[in-house]
Amino acid sequence: MGLIPKILKEVFKKTAEKPFTIHYPFVDIKPVEGYRGRIRWKVSGCIGCGMCATVCPANAIVMIPSERTKTKKEPQFIHYKCIFCGLCAEHCPTKVIELTQDYHLYGFNKEDIKIEVVE
Ligand code: SF4
Ligand code: SF4
Repeated sequence: MGLIPKILKEVFKKTAEKPFTIHYPFVDIKPVEGYRGRIRWKVSGCIGCGMCATVCPANAIVMIPSERTKTKKEPQFIHYKCIFCGLCAEHCPTKVIELTQDYHLYGFNKEDIKIEVVE
């Protein structure tokens, strides 16, 4: 078989097959186990120790004044800077940070990308 017929055969074969891509965001996919997505932070368990900000390699957490913790400080997550390493969750002494499987992180501005705050 010549080259052109071979190519045409391949083109027709592939046209009939299901695409490998998905119609995101219209179709949801199930992330693999261990996937690290949007951060969930439980305010009530936070002691304001600042460990999360200390270990964050991307400087995506800064400690800001707060009346909600004993130390009068709480983390502010700059989520668009996050590289989803999970170190903040790993080192938080009260385990109030979790990296969820939510991968829907988009917006018109980088500031639109926010963590999930649980009271
Ligand atoms: S997951 Fe990593 S980069 Fe993102 S906020 Fe936590 S420590 Fe920083
Ligand atoms: S490490 Fe945990 S307890 Fe400490 S400031 Fe961060 S979120 Fe709060």
